[in-house]
Amino acid sequence: MDNVIILGSGCAGNTAAIYAARANLKPVVLEGHEPGGQLSITTEVENFPGFVGGVQGPQLVENMKQQAIRFGAEYRAGRAVKADLSKRPFRLELDDGMALETRTLIVATGASARWLNLPNEQKLIGHGVSSCATCDGFFHREKLIMVVGGGDSAMEEANFLTRFGSKVMMVHRSENFRASKIMLDRARSNPKIEFITNSIVEDIFDVSKGYVTGVQLKNLVTGESYTRGVDGFFVAIGHIPNTKPFIGQLDLDEDGYIVSHGGARTNITGVFHAGDVQDRKYRQAITASAAGCMAALEAERFLESEGH
Ligand SMILES: Cc1cc2nc3c(=O)[nH]c(=O)nc-3n(C[C@H](O)[C@H](O)[C@H](O)COP(=O)(O)OP(=O)(O)OC[C@H]3O[C@@H](n4cnc5c(N)ncnc54)[C@H](O)[C@@H]3O)c2cc1C
Repeated sequence: MDNVIILGSGCAGNTAAIYAARANLKPVVLEGHEPGGQLSITTEVENFPGFVGGVQGPQLVENMKQQAIRFGAEYRAGRAVKADLSKRPFRLELDDGMALETRTLIVATGASARWLNLPNEQKLIGHGVSSCATCDGFFHREKLIMVVGGGDSAMEEANFLTRFGSKVMMVHRSENFRASKIMLDRARSNPKIEFITNSIVEDIFDVSKGYVTGVQLKNLVTGESYTRGVDGFFVAIGHIPNTKPFIGQLDLDEDGYIVSHGGARTNITGVFHAGDVQDRKYRQAITASAAGCMAALEAERFLESEGH
């Protein structure tokens, strides 16, 4: 039986692994479907403290992993598909049919960005395509930016991006927005934002150049397809917290995010949360890492209080 199993190898899981390993708990990290987490799909990260000249996302998460391994963390390929948290030890079933038991569990499974699934979208992530304005807005000073979405976070991202871009085009499939009136009004009154409604994006260019140069749009009313030049393309259509194995066991909010019971605690004693899987607000590498640290410290103290 393990002392600590950490689900997820993003910033939260890796940082939890560093702390738990240095506390001699020999944590086991399940890497999940996306080893390294969301930073593994991006390029330049300029806002993680300690890297004066920035760092590549995949390098940053690999550094964290190697740091954890150096202190005795064990990394395993695989994903938890089922969890029994009704009694201790907790039991996890993995996608390869294996089962693991653990005294404590740190859930650091993240919240995956929803993408549009356009033919060239994934190939241009980190090269002009992003799902995070806070992270990547700075790369688009005086550039043409497009945002897709119709909710509050899309409005917030568009407003924020006007600090950088010469213009922000807001594309939405209908004329009706899910966004609250106040957020919509704020975006509508921003002179740098142009609304393109009743329209969808059909694809993004230009993979052969290695960066975003434009998009193909379709007007759903007229049926007309046409191209527009853009330099930055932000998808703001929400996130999906990876909490499926815990439905009915962990307290989740209406969108599936873990509800915190103070610090890194969940509603189940011995199960801790870390990172974007609980955080719908900040969603940054540094906040996920900080949450991983908190979860590991709480797991360590809990194990100690139980005499392990
Ligand atoms: C394109 C892009 C660019 C970004 N740029 C920046 C930036 O410049 N600066 C910044 O601070 N932030 C940036 N972010 C945000 C940052 O990546 C996230 O806030 C951070 O990765 C969250 O870390 P996390 O560990 O909580 O989750 P994630 O990184 O999402 O990691 C989740 C982990 O859980 C695993 N997992 C999921 N389900 C299971 C399961 N059932 N069993 C086991 N494992 C599972 C996954 O495989 C993954 O390893 C960016 C995000 C994106 C998408």
